[in-house]
Amino acid sequence: MGRKFFVGGNWKCNGTNEEVKKIISTLNAGDVPSQDVVEVVVSPPFVFLPLTKGSLRPDFHVAAQNCWVKKGGAYTGEISAEMLVNLDIPWVILGHSERRLILGESNEFVGDKVAYALSRGLKVIACVGETLEQRESGSTLEVVAAQTKAIADRVSDWTNVVVAYEPVWAIGTGKVATPAQAQEVHAELRKWLHANISPEVAASTRIIYGGSVNGANCKELAAQADVDGFLVGGASLKPEFIDIIKSAE
Ligand code: PEP
Repeated sequence: MGRKFFVGGNWKCNGTNEEVKKIISTLNAGDVPSQDVVEVVVSPPFVFLPLTKGSLRPDFHVAAQNCWVKKGGAYTGEISAEMLVNLDIPWVILGHSERRLILGESNEFVGDKVAYALSRGLKVIACVGETLEQRESGSTLEVVAAQTKAIADRVSDWTNVVVAYEPVWAIGTGKVATPAQAQEVHAELRKWLHANISPEVAASTRIIYGGSVNGANCKELAAQADVDGFLVGGASLKPEFIDIIKSAE
């Protein structure tokens, strides 16, 4: 089953109005493969969602970087899934390691968020990944399986889920996973989906890699059988994001 290559750009907590306009104009001028070949989604901070949505080329889509775990209300500082739907934002990133580790989001909380966002009609980039300590102690597969299970326990339809494998030790460190390291975990995650959900979900769910992807290392990673695209942080703020999108070809 063909899985369309997926490239997400996570702008994190970066940018001014002027800088965001500049990034968007670079993206709009980029010569990239068609939507039949690659799905591109960029994720600005909440405050820049309307600007980005309003001025980004129509073949690229927009994601929020988070949303609240249930219906909005008395949750100061939060943004609800309903608000994103109201603004016609199709995607949301959930379970990013910066939220898991800095803000203490548990596997269960992330699973609840994924289930609620999907129930409101959002598509979800669900992030999983191990810390350096967990990798060095040999528990990588156990960690990503537990993170994925917390989602699987709460979600029955995986059509609108993209799984982002993002080893924490590779995020923002310049220390990218080798193609073999990425392929190994992606293949194991796909096996997990096969055994615990269904062969169809395993075959159709995109598993993308994130962690220090750049214009120079993307081709080799993209060539791995189970790497279906990327979630890109730092390099998504730079013109080389276009080169990363081109690695879909
Ligand atoms: C990320 O934060 O999702 C990420 C992959 O960051 P970077 O590409 O900067 O490592």
